[in-house]
Amino acid sequence: MIPITRPCLNEKEAQAAYDVVMSGWVVQGPKVLEFEEVFAAYTGSRYAIAVSSCTTALHLALKVAAIGVGDEVICPSMSYIATANSIVHSGAVPVFAEVKPVTYNLDIEDAARRITNKTKAILLVHQIGMPADIDGFSSLCKKHNLILIEDAACALGSEYKGKRIGSHNDLVCFSFHPRKVITTGDGGMVCTNNKAFADRLRTLRQHSMDLSPLDRHNNESKMAVEKYDEVGYNYRMTDIQAAVGIEQMKKMADIVSSRRSIAYKYHDAFKHIHWIDLPYEPSNCISNYQSYSIYLNKKAPIKRDEFMTIMTQKGISTRRGIMTAHIERAYADLNYKLPVTEDLSENSVLIPIYAGLSEEDISYIIRAVIELDNRTN
Ligand SMILES: *Cc1c(COP(=O)(O)O)cnc(C)c1O
Repeated sequence: MIPITRPCLNEKEAQAAYDVVMSGWVVQGPKVLEFEEVFAAYTGSRYAIAVSSCTTALHLALKVAAIGVGDEVICPSMSYIATANSIVHSGAVPVFAEVKPVTYNLDIEDAARRITNKTKAILLVHQIGMPADIDGFSSLCKKHNLILIEDAACALGSEYKGKRIGSHNDLVCFSFHPRKVITTGDGGMVCTNNKAFADRLRTLRQHSMDLSPLDRHNNESKMAVEKYDEVGYNYRMTDIQAAVGIEQMKKMADIVSSRRSIAYKYHDAFKHIHWIDLPYEPSNCISNYQSYSIYLNKKAPIKRDEFMTIMTQKGISTRRGIMTAHIERAYADLNYKLPVTEDLSENSVLIPIYAGLSEEDISYIIRAVIELDNRTN
């Protein structure tokens, strides 16, 4: 079976994790700091704050943006459900807006229509690595005095107008779950250019303690006593995870170029199949192709689920397209109807893409889809 994805892990990560274990300092220590520095330099953001996941990164981002009970946050329903969950964790209410067919990214006109006097923020998702219109949403947010938070869970290494995702805004959140571009097992990061946000994020992630373990370690002789000014969280990353993350960052250039080259092979092979709509990359954007989603349009001879069954029979893993939160029981009470979102989610499918997918497997996947086209023509 060709898997849908596979993380790029080898002896390098194993050795890095081993070294941390043997060092005896396993959480919120020197490796976490080093990972943050490497990450900030790579994304071009001033500060990077490591946490336990993207969900906790988003929760802290909403918290430092002073979003809570009584507030509304606009986001796409079409996203991994953690996007909406993080808003609920903050005490606010998610307000779902439609997405655009070609990029799967948030529809700015529909989002604008849903702004009320309770709206505090827009949580903008870069869907499966495809950058959303950051400038458009920045101006919309400025006009209505809203905060723009980016859910860049899948977008490490993607670029918008010549700059990497993470550098444009004051609250940009990333994930290191194995399904994403790099992994630390679980893990997350908040990038910011705002010093006050950075300081508060660093204290909130570890119980709001005003001294970090590193501060204490470096000032052992002063017998520093810590203070707690507010109720915080335990959202720390371990040094074992961070050491793996540092090794993963060294592979970023190869990972992104390899994913992009596979995406281009798929584009080339499928562009003549009239029932498949390919992912669309705006000319001012570079996607890392965290996933490759194809949309089976009205001319498709078979339904999406049938397509998935046929691929499975051929030994090719697929996944349904990006999910929609509003049709899940957890959000059904909000009673949304989002026809564009529903259609896109029901008729799209993800096919395998990852660095290390062999030429042979790429050709096999392409042949399987072309055969299906020939057979149904
Ligand atoms: C994966 C994902 C998340 C959640 O990331 P975790 O690290 O698993 O918490 C949030 N938002 C989006 C868009 C995702 O794809």
